Amino acid sequence: MILLTRKADFSAAHYYWNEAWTAEENERAFGKCSNRNGHGHNYTLEVTVAGEVDPVSGFVVDLKALKEIIEREVVSVYDHRHLNLEVPEFRQAIPTTENIAIAIWRRLEGKVPGTKLHRVRVYEMPDLFADYLGEA
Ligand SMILES: [Zn+2]
Repeated sequence: MILLTRKADFSAAHYYWNEAWTAEENERAFGKCSNRNGHGHNYTLEVTVAGEVDPVSGFVVDLKALKEIIEREVVSVYDHRHLNLEVPEFRQAIPTTENIAIAIWRRLEGKVPGTKLHRVRVYEMPDLFADYLGEA
């Protein structure tokens, strides 16, 4: 088994807000991130797939296909969007780095031919990222 990772970038806005809490509770928990006008990040996504190297091509995955799947399933949906307001999965889930990684996993799982999705890593900032490896 070998792992291969492809990176992609997208820019998006979000805010943190739990509808079950009062405004004061949200401000206490989320601080500036609770401002409902939102704020933006330049996210970096790393998608890692696992498989066997094809002895003929030398590749584990069709790189062009992987790039197109990430573009179609994630970047075209998230890039330059307000995640809370425009992306369906974040009408309920708060778009934290953790929840974004889980949502991207769900968008990609089973869609990359001949490989198994191994890890989705989402950087919100260069010094902050979340890894999702699927259900334990
Ligand atoms: Zn933020």
